[in-house]
Amino acid sequence: MNDRVVRPHWGRPGVHFPIEVVGRIGVGRVTAVAHVVVAIDFNQPDLAQFFFFDEAIAGLDLPGVAVGGESVGYDPTLTESVLDWIADLLPFDRPRYAMGVGDPLSFFTAVERGIDMFDSVLPTRLARNGTLLTSRGRLRLMSSAYADDDRPPDAECDCPTCAMTSRSLLRALFRARALLAYRLATIHNVRFCLRLAHLIRESILAGTFSALHNTWADRLREDRAEASP
Ligand SMILES: [Zn+2]
Repeated sequence: MNDRVVRPHWGRPGVHFPIEVVGRIGVGRVTAVAHVVVAIDFNQPDLAQFFFFDEAIAGLDLPGVAVGGESVGYDPTLTESVLDWIADLLPFDRPRYAMGVGDPLSFFTAVERGIDMFDSVLPTRLARNGTLLTSRGRLRLMSSAYADDDRPPDAECDCPTCAMTSRSLLRALFRARALLAYRLATIHNVRFCLRLAHLIRESILAGTFSALHNTWADRLREDRAEASP
């Protein structure tokens, strides 16, 4: 290992790309992690100088590869740079899983860089804090703007929460700290993400991915600055 590569969380300049077998789930299922941990010298953020043990990953002959670490999912711009950089290094014929991609716009940037799967705590965390992901951007239920808003949380959503409640009702439930509020918001945010992933899949099959991406980029532009895992 090169001396410019340091252990994560030590706070020293450098980067760390260990290949880790992080666990065994079920019978013989192993996740290989291209662990893109950043302890970066941000004065020299040149990805070309980083190290990556892609040969080691390919050599493991595992059914898929996961990409994660402190750079992936936390900073959208850096996530895109990392995914761009490793796109041609990972085995082409294996599914790719990116950890910590939960911001809706990041779905597009991950998918267009070859990522097949991703997950994040973001949708459920936001829900517990009264923020809904919607087709027109984040909706913060505690805002007084929704006190008398009887529209569904997201008119385009087909989840039970949007079918049976209104923004004002959900806001009242959150203000009362009713447990039902957290459940209803979580149901919506998870369904929103699943539906968006489905739309992305359909657009790929139809050859309209770029158009869909542009549409949602316009819709969610204001959310992007808040993106986090
Ligand atoms: Zn909904």
